[in-house]
Formats: sequence, structure tokens, C-alpha cells
Amino acid sequence: MPDAIGKGLVAREEVDLALKACSDFRKHPCKLGPILPSQVADDLCNWVQCFPVHGATIALRRGSPSLRAAEHRHGELHSTRRKCEVIPMTRPDSSSVTYLVGGGIASLAAAVFLIRDGDIPGHTITIIEESSRIGGSLDAAGNPDDGYVMRGGRMIESKYLCTYDLFSSIPTLDGSRTVTREIFDWNETMKTSSKSRLFRDGHRIDAPGFGLSESHILAIERLGLEPEQLLGRSTISDQFDPAFFQTDFWRMWCTTFAFQPWHSAAEFKRYLVRFAHMVSGFNALHGIMRTVYNQYDSMVRPLQKWLEERGVNFMLNARVTDFALIQGNEGFAVERILVEEGSCLKEIVIGDQDRVIVTLGSMTEASSLGSMDSAPKLLGKSDGGSWTLWEKIAAGHAQFGRPSNFSNHIEQSKWISFTTTLHDPTFFQLIRDLTGNVPGEGGLITFPESSWLVSIVLPHQPHFIGQPEDVQVLWGYGLFVDIPGNFVKKPMSVCTGREIMAEIIGHLRIEAHASRILDACTCIPCMMPFITSQFLPRSKGDRPQVVPEGTKNLAFIGQYCELPDDVVFTVEYSIRSAQTAVYSLLGLERKPPAVYKGQYNPLVLLEAFLALHEIGV
Ligand SMILES: Cc1cc2nc3c(=O)[nH]c(=O)nc-3n(C[C@H](O)[C@H](O)[C@H](O)COP(=O)(O)OP(=O)(O)OC[C@H]3O[C@@H](n4cnc5c(N)ncnc54)[C@H](O)[C@@H]3O)c2cc1C
Repeated sequence: MPDAIGKGLVAREEVDLALKACSDFRKHPCKLGPILPSQVADDLCNWVQCFPVHGATIALRRGSPSLRAAEHRHGELHSTRRKCEVIPMTRPDSSSVTYLVGGGIASLAAAVFLIRDGDIPGHTITIIEESSRIGGSLDAAGNPDDGYVMRGGRMIESKYLCTYDLFSSIPTLDGSRTVTREIFDWNETMKTSSKSRLFRDGHRIDAPGFGLSESHILAIERLGLEPEQLLGRSTISDQFDPAFFQTDFWRMWCTTFAFQPWHSAAEFKRYLVRFAHMVSGFNALHGIMRTVYNQYDSMVRPLQKWLEERGVNFMLNARVTDFALIQGNEGFAVERILVEEGSCLKEIVIGDQDRVIVTLGSMTEASSLGSMDSAPKLLGKSDGGSWTLWEKIAAGHAQFGRPSNFSNHIEQSKWISFTTTLHDPTFFQLIRDLTGNVPGEGGLITFPESSWLVSIVLPHQPHFIGQPEDVQVLWGYGLFVDIPGNFVKKPMSVCTGREIMAEIIGHLRIEAHASRILDACTCIPCMMPFITSQFLPRSKGDRPQVVPEGTKNLAFIGQYCELPDDVVFTVEYSIRSAQTAVYSLLGLERKPPAVYKGQYNPLVLLEAFLALHEIGV
């Protein structure tokens, strides 16, 4: 028997292959060599180290590099220092169960579609989330005293078809109408119409011209037509001359959507096509829609309430660290989910009929907060569970995508947002007078001269449910965080909330009011290392399909799976991925609403053409 071990897969250092063979144990026992049924392995325990893996035991020669590699790979699961609980396949009834990994909008939407369209009972659905609350990137929290904080502020528009489909079934918190109805009603009364999209040299620019040359317009039109495959991994800067990046079209486009010149030309092309109907009026942000409150209060809370009422289980503070996959006749299937809950490690056993839906990656992974007097820290992918999980499950499975394409370029994907809570009306009053817009009406105000390329939004107040009347909240962000500011001569990445507000005050030329504003506000900066990672140049296969080829009970959702035509960095993309995953896994005869294609509407094209050429403005 020792010889058999010495000659087996493990002796050739192929630890992952051996572990996979363990999972195939029941089908190919004769091929296993060193993979032993546990009773045999027990006899050898003086000579080898045994690991229980997927119901079998793997035996590795003591002191061998294979053993060290295996200890490293599976140490957390099998370490004697930690309790390992196996959650068996007990079922409340004969139903199958669904596990959703991640508690962002993608998972919440998937849970709704499972219940609403798939007739799946809520109590058979469990959402596993590593943080202490659900919502993921759609977060907003805080209070007037310590300061409110939200990592993002979302713009939506009328063609978010999956989003409106989802929320057409979800009542608002007061139950008076659906969330979709609330959004449309709200945007009837509060239409976005910016009179100050750019703010330059202390003055607002009402409906700035695009400033595009003929060759820029031709390049935009060519990109609109060019098949995505031909663009490959090219960047936006590969497609345009340097002068393009000095135009006000680019300044408005890149700050509305958070593009950088080094981002994917294919993604930029998708945006041009997907938002073709918004090019006309883009310089006044016409067509941009908002929720009544921040999106946690207006979207996540109603969703959570609906799901709780239907018995969906929420496993919070629980990080999924790995899966065990088995190869069967119908393809790969998840057999176990490994979950870290505090100091406890759990294995959840997945049955034949069960489903696992995983949110891959996260744009807000490893984000960190600063304060009025401290800058946020730059963290990395090991500070959260999202990238590490994707890396583990993708190893050896090409159809699960390539996470490193998105997670290994923090210098190209990071930026900083900030939320400021004000206890004095001066700042909001000055902005109203300077921009000609009341809060909620104007949308994004960008300072094109800012070396950080900073923008701010003054939403309609109150922006948080329960926000006191004499408190205001604004949100902003900067795209270039490693360049010294124009007024605060430091990179934004090392600035405190106070310094960020001082820089904004400088751009607005309202220094005379600085101490009054700064003394009565709390600005909380947030560093997000992966915020534009989904825009990085990508090749075919970097993003996996929603239901990866050769898998039986597994689907991927969120911002990093492949969906044709639609655009990432949107709530819509996550919801579309969820709808696609659920319909496909359940084998339903229906599809999500088709992506809106304004490029086939002659009127849309004509209006975009006139706008790009600044004809009739
Ligand atoms: C600053 C900012 C501005 C934005 N602006 C807009 C906008 O204007 N318009 C728009 O439509 N969209 C916008 N978005 C994008 C939108 O918010 C996101 O696309 C969407 O919220 C992503 O949802 P998700 O569920 O796919 O992923 P996430 O919200 O990232 O959710 C993933 C969840 O999984 C959890 N998780 C990760 N790994 C594990 C693990 N191993 N185990 C357990 N849990 C795990 C995370 O904690 C997280 O809660 C913006 C986002 C930000 C941050």
C-alpha cells in the first residue's frame, strides 16, 4: 500500500488533481491510487498524514512537499484548531434548496425571481453574506451625529427594464405602491435637468458643448458599429487621439460613468450603444432618474422586507471560502459549500436537486472608510472573501473565468468617494445659487479643472429615511486619486474628509465661507480599490457565462459574468444576471426583458447625430 501511495497522483505533486479525484471517488475508485477509503487510510496514519476530503480520505506522505501544499490548500477546513461543522442535507420538506452566495442586489433579485417566477418557497432559499447586513454595494448607513455614509449614489434611467420588472412586484416600505411606481412618479415631479453640469473657474457652464472634432465623431460612430470581438483588449485610448480626452464630451462621459482612458474599449462601445438615446440632452443629464432616498433605503429595504415576509433565510457574517465540486454525468455540480462563520467552519452539503447561485467579485470589495481627520486605507483582495473565493473556484476550471484580470490591477481600478453630512445650510444655499438648481434637480456637478477630476451631487433632501430637516447630505467622488489637488496640495488618496471638503470649497470659490462649512460638517471618504475593475480590458473567457458550460446546479451573477449587450457598473446588469440565472437553472420558458437597443431607432440615431455635431443646440 505505501508503494501505491508513492506512485499515485499525489506523489507527482498534483494536489489539486488528487483532490478533484477525491470528489470523483464514487465513480472511478479503480483509478484513484493514493486516494484511499478512510478505513484503509486510518491504518497508515503513522506513516502518512490523512485528510478527510469530500467523504473520502486523501493520504499524503509525511514531510512531503505534497503534504505541505495540501495543508496550505485545505488547512482552514481540516485544521484541528477550528471547529468544523457539517450541515447535512436535512430538509424541512422534500423541496430542493437554493444557496445564494453574496447579499447584494444580484442575490436579492435572484431570490425574488426564484419565488415570484419559479414558485420556489422562500424558506428553501438561503442568502449567505460575509458582512453584517445585506445590500452589498447598494449600501447607505450612519446617522446625523457621526455622519452618514454611502459608497455610491446611483443614477438610473427609463430603460432599466429588468430593474423595473423586479421592483414592479415589490411594495414600498409603507405599502402604498410598488417601488417601480414610486420611482416613475418621483421622476415625474423631480426631473433631472442640470444647469451646471460643469463648473469651471468659479462659474457654472449651462449645457456645455461637446467640443468633438469630426474625427472624434467618426471614431465614436465606428466604435458603435465595430463588433466587440474586433476590439479585443484594446483600451479607449487606443481608439482616440489625445485631444479627445480634453473635450467636454469626454469629461462629462467619463465622470457620469467613471471611465478612464485605460479602460476597455469594448465596454466603452457598449455604453455608447446602450445609452445612445441619452446622448441628446446628455450635457444637462436629461433622462437620468433617481430613487426617492438613497438606494439602500429605497431599494434594498423594501426587497429585504418582501423576502423576509416569505421566509427567506439570511446567513450574515458568514464568508464562503470554497466549494467542493463533483463531476457527474450531467457535468460539474457543487457538492459542498465551505463557510467561515466567526471562528467556526461549516460545510454545507448540497443535494442532487439543489442550486447554488454565486455573486462573483465585488466592486466594493475591501473598501475602507476614513473620517473627517483621517484618510482611508488602501486595502487589497485578501481583505475580503469575494476575489479569493472566485480565484479558488476558478483554479483548474477555465469556464469559471479569470478573476485576476479584474482583481490584480488596483492602480487602474481604485478611486475615492465621499459622503458629507452638513449641519449648517450655508453650503447647500451657496450651491443652489451658484448652479441654478435645487438639490435633486441638477445631478452631477464636475469640476473639469480639478486634478482629482472631482464631482459632487446634491440629492433631494432628506436623502436618508429619518434624516433630520436641518441636516443635509451630499455625495461626491474623484477619479484621479494619486495626483496632488489644486488647493490642497496632496493626493486625494491621503486626504482626510476635511481636506477633501477644503478642495471642493476651493473649486467653488467659496473660501470665505470655509470655516463655517468645515466646522459644521462631517465628510467621510471611502477608498474603493476595485471600483472600476469591471471596466478593465478583458478577453473572451475572462468573464464566465451565467450558467457555465458543463455545470449542473451552479450559476454566476453580478458584475463579472458575461451578458450580451448590457453594461456593467449598473444595478440593471446585476439584476439581469439574476433573472438570467434563475430562469436558466429552473428551466423556465421565459427570458428577461430584452436589452433596449436604441441604435435601431432612427429617431434616436438622428438625435444623437445632431447632438454630437452640436447642430441645433
Ligand atoms: C460608487 C458607486 C457608484 C455607482 N453608481 C451606479 C449608478 O450610477 N448606476 C447604477 O446603475 N449602478 C451604479 N453602481 C453599481 C451598482 O451599485 C452595483 O452594480 C450593484 O450594486 C452590484 O450588486 P451585486 O449584487 O452584483 O454585487 P455587490 O453589491 O458587490 O454584492 C456582493 C456581495 O457579496 C458579498 N460577498 C462577497 N464575497 C463573499 C463571500 N465569499 N461570502 C459571502 N459573501 C460574499 C459582499 O459582501 C457583497 O455584499 C454604483 C456602485 C458604486 C459602488
